[in-house]
Amino acid sequence: MIESLLIANRGEIARRIIRTAKWLGIRTIAVHSDADAGMAFVREADEALPIGPAPARDSYLRQDRILEAARRSGARAIHPGYGFLSENAEFAEAVMAEGLVWVGAPPAAIRAMGLKHAAKQRMIAAGVPVTPGYLGDDQSPERLQREADAIGYPVLVKAVAGGGGKGMRRVERSADFAVALASCRREASSSFGDDRVLIEKYILSPRHIEVQVFGDSKGQVVHLFERDCSLQRRHQKVIEEAPAPGMDALTRDAVCQAAVKAARAVNYIGAGTIEFIADASEGLRADRIWFMEMNTRLQVEHPVTEAITGQDLVEWQLRIASGEPLPLAQDQLSITGWAMEARLYAENPATGFLPSIGRLDHLRLPDTLRIDSGVEEGDEVTPHYDPMLAKLISHGASRQETVHKLCDGVRKVEIWPVHSNAGFLVRALAHPDFLAGAVDTGFIERHAKDLVPPGKPAEAVLQAAATALLQKRSPDVWAMLAGFRLNAEIDRRVAVDVGKWPYLVQVNPAQATVRTENGVLFHDGEAWEFAAPRAGHSGYGSGSGDGAIVAPMPGIIIAVSVAEGDVVKRGQPLIAIEAMKMEQVLQAPFDGTVAELKACLGSQVVEGSLLVRIEGEG
Ligand code: ADP
Repeated sequence: MIESLLIANRGEIARRIIRTAKWLGIRTIAVHSDADAGMAFVREADEALPIGPAPARDSYLRQDRILEAARRSGARAIHPGYGFLSENAEFAEAVMAEGLVWVGAPPAAIRAMGLKHAAKQRMIAAGVPVTPGYLGDDQSPERLQREADAIGYPVLVKAVAGGGGKGMRRVERSADFAVALASCRREASSSFGDDRVLIEKYILSPRHIEVQVFGDSKGQVVHLFERDCSLQRRHQKVIEEAPAPGMDALTRDAVCQAAVKAARAVNYIGAGTIEFIADASEGLRADRIWFMEMNTRLQVEHPVTEAITGQDLVEWQLRIASGEPLPLAQDQLSITGWAMEARLYAENPATGFLPSIGRLDHLRLPDTLRIDSGVEEGDEVTPHYDPMLAKLISHGASRQETVHKLCDGVRKVEIWPVHSNAGFLVRALAHPDFLAGAVDTGFIERHAKDLVPPGKPAEAVLQAAATALLQKRSPDVWAMLAGFRLNAEIDRRVAVDVGKWPYLVQVNPAQATVRTENGVLFHDGEAWEFAAPRAGHSGYGSGSGDGAIVAPMPGIIIAVSVAEGDVVKRGQPLIAIEAMKMEQVLQAPFDGTVAELKACLGSQVVEGSLLVRIEGEG
């Protein structure tokens, strides 16, 4: 077994790898950007070396600096985690050229699976079912049009070098094909420097089924069953589970055998995932599951496979990289129960899932679940990296038990002031269609209205805020409220600001069951700030606030159309802010005067910072 390991990654996956390496008695070396110097993975490694400034291209993607850190620390092996350099064949070769052990896929396998059309041609030759389509070299628009017409609409045009859901166009009918092709090519050439495309039949009711495989240096390959990752938002996985709902033994055998064949075809060594797309319009069927692509690395969602098989996949990776054979043979592997993972992101569902950054002043994650987290309370969420905060994983005897356990756990998530998708996850996990296992890749888009938490607090939240304020005023609030009941004449209404908006709440102490802490309320994964009403409010429930206009998201000020002292009318545009190519115009909430102007053109602002304050007339 290797005796020391450098982890060329950060956050959650770096901690995950360190955990197993420590248990195996392997010395761990972290590398980190300047922005990550204080993070948990840096503290938890036996040794840590800085490799450059915050942007990934200056640190985590700098092959030379990572190799230099390996030399300096005397590391014997490098684990790339996922993302960053994990599927970079040149880096794998450079690591091995240094005489180090590469805990990743063989460079030849990474290359073979790198381009979609070449990978698919190879799979067809190996006898793996591939989505019906056109993978040819003739890229003339006339030929592509003819092929699309022959496949039958809808079709999907995909850039052969595409990834991350980019460079794909769904085309509904022959007449739209030429325009879609041209636009797909433009995107492919600007994003990937390669404008070649392939055409596939568009699968209706598509489900994303993937199979975990492992190969060793003796040429043995096993599978560790399937995962269902159909719950996606814009082709990004959100909730994953294993096994796949509705998978029967025959279909499982077919898809898992196809995955083993695929891995063998590229002489695979280490952890890999074969992704398939299934037409689930009539349930899962062996003749309607097709190869999509292979990920030549460990996957984010590997914990659900660990839970149902009882195996540690990082341990498997380290043993195989050290030259040991596969820890178990195929007939020693079986499925126990059900497992599900939810990805907790620092993002705000209410603003179209814009990433949310800032300090995690308050962070509580449930102790009833397996938590693979990259952050701790007090850590900073920076705009430089993936916004995933943690993975929450449940394991139970049945799917129903597993979903309920996960949902209950996510309800207890408390994060403030950074926004998270916890409330969104709770709604997805509690949705009747999800509970029934009726998921496909269109689920989130179809149910968006039910899943995105409304900007308005629930009654339970208002009750809790009002009760907490009463308690502050008089510790013996229950006696006070009992008094209310005796005398109906007394006003039981309490004015309170929740989420910066004023409300007048009819207090009913029986309903106040929400946890409150330091002016924040936590309810079903969502966080609400509350306070006694501030002076200057122009009316409860009117939604006009106190005239303080704060940045609704982190971004750049792209227009300022007022100056201090200006008289403004309600609805008049004041400032425009842009983030992630989205523009938002902030307007005057009421007639008044610009009392303060903090925003200046071109400046970067953090979410919640005061931009302008309007004082009402009179
Ligand atoms: P990328 O490499 O950009 O992630 P993929 O080829 O893996 O692209 O596809 C991404 C997602 O697009 C899949 O998970 C699936 O949801 C959807 N998809 C891909 N191919 C098809 C298809 N033929 N029909 C319907 N949906 C598809």
